[in-house]
Amino acid sequence: MDRIQKIAEEIVEKFKKSGYEINRKDVYKRLKLLIEEFKVPESEAIRTVENYLIKELDISRDKLVSDSPLVKVEDIKTPGQWVSLKAKVVQLWDSSSPNVSQVGLIGDETGIIKFVIWAKANKPEVEEGKSYLFANVVTDSFGGRMQVNVNRNSRIEEIDEDIQLPPREVEAVGALVAIQQNSGLIRRCKKCNRVLTKGICPVHGKTEAYDDLRVKGVIDDGESYYEVILNQDNIKYLTGIGLEEAIEMAKKHYDREVVLSELKNRLLGRYFRFTGRKGERYFIVNEIDFLRYDGKEKAEELLSKLSG
Ligand SMILES: [Zn+2]
Repeated sequence: MDRIQKIAEEIVEKFKKSGYEINRKDVYKRLKLLIEEFKVPESEAIRTVENYLIKELDISRDKLVSDSPLVKVEDIKTPGQWVSLKAKVVQLWDSSSPNVSQVGLIGDETGIIKFVIWAKANKPEVEEGKSYLFANVVTDSFGGRMQVNVNRNSRIEEIDEDIQLPPREVEAVGALVAIQQNSGLIRRCKKCNRVLTKGICPVHGKTEAYDDLRVKGVIDDGESYYEVILNQDNIKYLTGIGLEEAIEMAKKHYDREVVLSELKNRLLGRYFRFTGRKGERYFIVNEIDFLRYDGKEKAEELLSKLSG
């Protein structure tokens, strides 16, 4: 079945659900003309054909079984609901499962949520940074987190609207669930400040470099994921390990990686309260501190000072 046949099929199904038998060939012919001859975008062509049928059958649009209700990301709280949402693709993840066509994060102004497009859904691929209507997707909960699943009955339409993501200034509380490999004691290019990989700047090649300390990680507040960057000051404040201490550690162990392991030991899985500013992709952390429920943190700090 080609793409247009599939769309025709979906339109026929939609009217059938509402109790109207329509001529598939007629729908196909009209769609083909609009999409192939006149280069009308798919979503526009679908609307045009549907409007034609509605007029032809002399019914009102409300009579048609319509899409699941349009919701915002923050409204998604229970699994097993059919919903539609307009959202922007924030990030695509690598999928390790052959059952999954695409997986990643989508968002609107109220939040960010994980999405999964099943391979069986047979949908065209979405692109990072573009906005779509995700119609008739099913909410699900995985590992205590909400997500939306795109299946065969869902529809993905690119839309012209530029969907806004949550406000750039954030204050959140959550667990640091991941620290990326290019964290810890890193080297930056003296000319452009880019992080070197194996001593090489992506722009300047082999170049003069300087040491820096940073953590690139993911904080999960139970509703959203924040990709955060902690700078030297943040790290020193949280762990007592500043740039000098990090360089010292690396020298002592003849291994720069030891800094990253130590930071992982001290920070991963811990809860933080932080404020930050959203850049293109990362939250540049302004202030960050351990979340203190009781006096436990202080006791730990004391102990580590005593034993140190
Ligand atoms: Zn450079």
